[in-house]
Amino acid sequence: MTVRTRIAPSPTGDPHVGTAYIALFNLAFARAMGGKFILRIEDTDQARSTSDSEKQILDALRWLGLDWDEGPDIGGPHGPYHQSQRTDIYHQHVEQLVDKGHAFRCFCSTERLSALRVQQMKDKQQPGYDGHCMSLSSDQVEQRISAGESSVVRMKVPREGSCKFQDMLRGEVEIDWTQVDMQILMKADGMPTYHLANVVDDHLMEITHVIRGEEWINSAPKHQLLYDYFGWEMPVLCHMPLLRNPDKSKLSKRKNPTSILYYQRMGFLAEALCNYLGRMGWSMPDEREKFSLDEMIQDFDIKRVSLGGPIFDTEKLSWLNGLWIRDMEPEEFGRRVSQWAFNKEYFMQIAPLVQSRVELFSDIEPLAGFFVSGVLPLTEENFQIKGLEPDVLKRVLQFSLWRFEALRHWERESIEGTISQLAEEMGLKLRNFMPPIFMAITGKSSATPLMDSMAILGPDMTRARLRHALGVVGGVSKKELKRLEKEFVLLGSDENSGGSAAS
Ligand code: GLU
Repeated sequence: MTVRTRIAPSPTGDPHVGTAYIALFNLAFARAMGGKFILRIEDTDQARSTSDSEKQILDALRWLGLDWDEGPDIGGPHGPYHQSQRTDIYHQHVEQLVDKGHAFRCFCSTERLSALRVQQMKDKQQPGYDGHCMSLSSDQVEQRISAGESSVVRMKVPREGSCKFQDMLRGEVEIDWTQVDMQILMKADGMPTYHLANVVDDHLMEITHVIRGEEWINSAPKHQLLYDYFGWEMPVLCHMPLLRNPDKSKLSKRKNPTSILYYQRMGFLAEALCNYLGRMGWSMPDEREKFSLDEMIQDFDIKRVSLGGPIFDTEKLSWLNGLWIRDMEPEEFGRRVSQWAFNKEYFMQIAPLVQSRVELFSDIEPLAGFFVSGVLPLTEENFQIKGLEPDVLKRVLQFSLWRFEALRHWERESIEGTISQLAEEMGLKLRNFMPPIFMAITGKSSATPLMDSMAILGPDMTRARLRHALGVVGGVSKKELKRLEKEFVLLGSDENSGGSAAS
């Protein structure tokens, strides 16, 4: 048997370090076993998937040296490798399940389902589908479909007993069937859900080992059931521990930069980031900290993954990066630095912003040096801005940070829209709102135009600088945070028409 593993990202955002972490362990496992590593794009969520995000994910994984043997860009014998191009396959399979009586059409309206949920919560029951449409006859189903009623397909799930499955790191895992909902397999728009597409594809792509994040462990019973219904053998499962922030909470962009693009822009080396991800819950037999991808593959044993939540600590990562940098030949160091940010491609994004604002080339650094910096050396004095009270200042920084966390398309126009809307909702003039943001992002009171600069710097670097600025002006205590969260939710609503944040 040839070992085949896969990484199956959904292209719905920036390339996440968590994706790289899971990709790394899948790759190391496959390579160590002489197997193949496959990349599949799970883009069935058409509303959220973008080709930009897909490209960034592929570029980021490749930058890290995590190359795949089959995938959307290089093809392979099990394509297509985009789920959006496989809908016929899912339709055929879902029909099989319906024909065999393992799945059924459900016509329940969202109103009925939410009322059901509310009642279940009231009755302190596990929320989930109650089987309402399960007993419809095939004639009834046909009639309702021909009458144009919209429907989904759900899988049947036993209501008693428990599901047992094996996990490579945990041994036997047992989950009661009552905890498992009658999952929708096919949505009303004819697109499959993750569960159906994932199981069908893993089978057809001959995946032998599914190594994925712990957050999927509760989905395993549904998947096992689907494999049974189809009469297929289930791949071996391995759920990796989730990466955590230093405060042990799940790694999230609210607390830490999570985009690989941020780490690139900060000047981390691909080798060091890959090395650090390899240290997440795993160690070399001799426990050494610095090792290459090839060395990791050489000594790889998945059984050495420990389940304690690995902490993704950027300070530790910086330290490791320093080791890699100091071990480089000077020539290589120079080459890599120019590749990083002293290259034409990056500079040509910045050049149009500086050309009309300088007299000498040497004026460029004071104006645009922040494009090649990380966190800026700011002090509290930098934020003593006329006409801006300290508590308003904090709100401007914190609320902007929250709005940017929610911004899906990072472009000049959307950044500008976010800022002007927020200023308006806070009842602040842009002339008062902008200076602290400008200072946080550029470290200066005059520099290249802010919105364009933020668009180039990217969302994670922008947020990291706003977070840093908040720290510089004294940070936000837990109590304050609660209060600000409440105000933030009310922003823009009628209740806040007085612009309380600014008052
Ligand atoms: N598209 C899923 C994700 O978010 C894949 C999960 C899996 O590996 O099964 O990452």
